[in-house]
Parts: sequence; structure tokens; C-alpha cells
Amino acid sequence: MISTKILRPSVSIFGIAKTCSMSSRAPPKALLQDMVVPPRQLFGPGPSNMADSIAETQSKNLLGHLHPEFVQIMGDVRLGLQYIFKTENKYTFAVSGTGHSGMECAMVNLLEPGDKFLVVEIGLWGQRAADLANRMGIEVKKISAPHGKAVPVEDIQKAIAEYKPNLVFVCQGDSSTGVAQPLETIGDACREHGALFLVDTVASLGGTPFDADALKVDCVYSATQKVLNAPPGLAPISFSDRAIEKIRNRKQRVASFYFDALELGNYWGCDGELKRYHHTAPISTVYALRAALSAIAKEGIDESIQRHKDNAQVLYAALKNHGLEPFVEDEKLRLPCLTTVKVPERIDWKDVAGKMLINGVEIAGGLGATVGKIWRIGTFGINSNKTKIENVVELLSKSINETR
Ligand code: PMP
Repeated sequence: MISTKILRPSVSIFGIAKTCSMSSRAPPKALLQDMVVPPRQLFGPGPSNMADSIAETQSKNLLGHLHPEFVQIMGDVRLGLQYIFKTENKYTFAVSGTGHSGMECAMVNLLEPGDKFLVVEIGLWGQRAADLANRMGIEVKKISAPHGKAVPVEDIQKAIAEYKPNLVFVCQGDSSTGVAQPLETIGDACREHGALFLVDTVASLGGTPFDADALKVDCVYSATQKVLNAPPGLAPISFSDRAIEKIRNRKQRVASFYFDALELGNYWGCDGELKRYHHTAPISTVYALRAALSAIAKEGIDESIQRHKDNAQVLYAALKNHGLEPFVEDEKLRLPCLTTVKVPERIDWKDVAGKMLINGVEIAGGLGATVGKIWRIGTFGINSNKTKIENVVELLSKSINETR
């Protein structure tokens, strides 16, 4: 093979000419241009728009990830996460990664070979948890609801009593269907039958009621890019004392170093021991999360939840005015911060979403089994606003009419 390398003189930092081997490869032309980021109103299932107070953290200077000022910021984040999860759990921190990293962290720590895993499946996210467990060689049993519906909690209690799983997974707000799965009494059934209770709140935290301690949840994870209005990149997570006890008594070490909850807990200052280097935290994203939690603290978590509920009513009313129907028929089972809307007959969802995007507004189509059947409208955090919501539905209706 002929080498493409040529010899060229170059100057070292000391000014002494030397000869080095350099590649003749031209730089990508695209990178010689400035990056184009058009303005966009993000009313899809996430990411949502960043609030100004969060966006401005992204240009702050970096600190070292073990500097005392950064350690203080991490401590503030832990307090904020305990506040929004409503928990006293010591092991409350954020995994460096998107929502999936929260799911993977929970599962690699809480499951070990020989364990049984019960998945409550109301859409794509239950399937994803089951898929992950399959990859880990864990036995999985699924209890499912038709899309657009939740699994009755009595059926979940029965399945726990019969199957006797070690871990039960429930997605509180399934973003593929827009269903909010009721969680009450599941934690009690888990305690009674020796199971741990794991909840995905990626699409629901801050937008619908959640109380980790009152619900007896053993592990809950979320993400930053939905109600929190921060950039994607961190997965808030919390482990109960029961969960930590199970992790400490594992027969086998956690297979992942990066997701090891005890190592991460030490790095985030959860165990009171001297902090060890674990990884380099995404400093700027932690700043963003700190600002997001500060915004929720100033509004109040219950007030944030109520606002999402009230503005969901605004959305339902606007849809009705324009002859559109929510996909989830039972209003009590609708996720207030993410509404799924039936695509009317003979309308191409993609054409409509495309027209909206040209106008700077994103809404999404379905996901998994709901593709082609629904649109998904996220009204997360600052986008849960009456005027903005009415404008989005107005544009949706106009775009539908233009494609008829
Ligand atoms: N769970 C739910 C309910 C979600 O909606 C999502 C993201 N849409 C995830 C998990 C995965 O999160 P991420 O895309 O941030 O990895």
C-alpha cells in the first residue's frame, strides 16, 4: 500500500525547525463553516427548550471536578434532587449520561444472575427495560396493557405475589403512548414479597405527582431534558437504603465500573467517606442541572406539577376546539406534560409535522407501536404555558388543513 504521508518541516514551540510526518488529508469543508443552529420551539417529547437561566450556565468557565466550589455545586444538586424526587435517600445523585444511563445504572446494580425481573409494560420503555435485562441474561416476565391504557394496579400486585420477582420495573410516564401509570400500592406489594421497586420518571418528573418515599420506591431515575429544561446529559437517580443494602450484599460485583452505584455515590459525596476520583463529571451540564433545580425550587415542586396539570387542560380544550382528540381516552391516565393526539383519517402525520417544523415548531410522531397513529406534544417546564400551547395547537390545525 502506498503511504499518503508526506514529510514537511514544522516549527516546535521552541522555534527550532524539525521534520515531522503529517497527513495530507484535507480538513472537512463543513467544519470550516460556522455551525448553524436555527431557533426552534421544542414541543416534542424532548429535549425541551432551555430556560434562559439554564442556557447562560453553559458559557461559565469550567472548574476542576474535585475543586471545592464544584463539590459544593454537586452538593446543591443532591439537595435539589432529593427535593424533586421527594426522598430522604442518601444515595441521590446524577449519572453522567442521558436517561438510558439511569436505566442501565439501576438495572446493573439491582439485578444479578439468577434474579427474576417483572416489567410493567405500557409502551416502549417497558420493552426497553426487558431488552436490557435480556442482554444481561436475566429472566423477565412482562405484564402489559394495550397502548393508550395502564395496567390495573391490582393486576400488578397479583403478578408480584405469584411471580415473586427480585425487581419490579414501572415507567411512570411512557412517552411512546402518553400514559401515566398509577403507582400507588405497588411499593407495598414489593415490600410484602421481597422485591425492589424501580420507577422510570424520565418523562414525568416535575410534571405529575411523584413521591419516592411515600410510594416506597427503591430506585428512581429521570433525565434533564424534559420538565427540567436543561440540556440532555445527566440522569438524576436515587437509591433507597433497601436498594443499597442489596447492592452491598451482591454475590457478584457490579459488571460496570462506570455505573457502579457505590462508586458513583462516593464520588457524589453520598457515603460520608473521602471522595475518590471516579470519572470526570460533565461540569457544564452539572451547572445546568443546578440552575434547573434552582428554578423548580423557586417555583415549588407542587406548584410546578399543578401548572403542568392546569396547562394540560388548556391543551385538551384547544385540541377539542380544533376537532382533535387525545389518544389516551381516560383523562385520569393522561400524562400532563406529554399529550398524545390521534392523527385524523387520511392525514399524513409526517407532512403535518414537517410543515410545523418549517414554522420553527417541533412536535413528534409516534414511537414504536404508535408510529403513524399519533402526534406527541410535550409541554415541559417553561413550555407548559397557556399562550404557547394555544399557538402550537393553532399551528397544528392550520398545518393539518394545508395537507388536506
Ligand atoms: N424513559 C423514558 C420514559 C423516556 O421518555 C426516555 C427518552 N425519551 C428515556 C427513558 C430515555 O432517555 P434518553 O433518551 O435521555 O436516553
